[in-house]
Amino acid sequence: MNARTAIVTGAARGIGAGVARRLAADGFAVAVLDLDEAGCKGVVDEIVTEGGRALAVGVDVAEEDAVTAAVERIAAELGKPTVLVNNAGIIRDNLLFKMSVDDWDAVMSVHLRGSFLLARATQGSMIEAGWGRIVNLSSTSALGNRGQANYAAAKAGVQGFTKTLALELGRYGVTANAIAPGFIETEMTAATAERIGLGFDEFKTMAAKEIPVARTGTPDDIAHAVSFFVSEGAGFVSGQVLYVAGGPKA
Ligand code: NAP
Repeated sequence: MNARTAIVTGAARGIGAGVARRLAADGFAVAVLDLDEAGCKGVVDEIVTEGGRALAVGVDVAEEDAVTAAVERIAAELGKPTVLVNNAGIIRDNLLFKMSVDDWDAVMSVHLRGSFLLARATQGSMIEAGWGRIVNLSSTSALGNRGQANYAAAKAGVQGFTKTLALELGRYGVTANAIAPGFIETEMTAATAERIGLGFDEFKTMAAKEIPVARTGTPDDIAHAVSFFVSEGAGFVSGQVLYVAGGPKA
């Protein structure tokens, strides 16, 4: 049984929920973080039913004081965190000329400020343990994506942030890596389908035609990659960006 504590943000649903379940199955005690604590209950209950340990924590990752308090609570109730998966995310898509400053700021705030605040709040317990794993969710959109100037910039920023953490924290036994998913079936992609006036099944079929493995991805595909990066044996893998997209991306 792995006694380590992992934090997964944005874990009430979608990729984060899949990652939380997988890390619990791998033996981690898992703090399931999302905006709404009640929304985390389903994932926590599933983990506990399977014999794991989990804690629901409601926090906006972009709020400095709330993040500090949440990490202190997790340390007290589950154990000091040595694994962090920065997964919480939002999209506010629009073409540049229609993109509001609020939509720019909101996306930067959740993806970049949120990842920074959680990493800063947890690095101390990782350094103290002489062991830690940070995994940040980037995206294939980091390579550029029409209608996503804010999101693409944030997800490219996540990659630079990740590489810098790898450089700074490596000497303490802490690795930092990024996963850049392609199309994953979640409420985020369902919302995109709705925005452009397509049914989700139709949207997935269209997307799959462009993907070399001829299917869209699932949260389990990403959870599998996270499981590798946080594993004991992955201590020599750091500062990498793994595209999990059913085909090559550069
Ligand atoms: P999702 O289904 O929309 O889930 C995102 C979760 O993050 C939601 O539960 C959301 O809570 C939570 N969240 C949003 N803002 C937050 C905040 N400020 N503080 C705490 N939690 C917050 O998204 P997903 O598809 O699983 O995506 C997860 C991550 O993968 C994101 O970083 C996304 O950018 C990235 N990604 C996804 C895809 C894809 O195809 N799905 C592709 C590439 C990258 P609420 O429900 O309360 O808003």
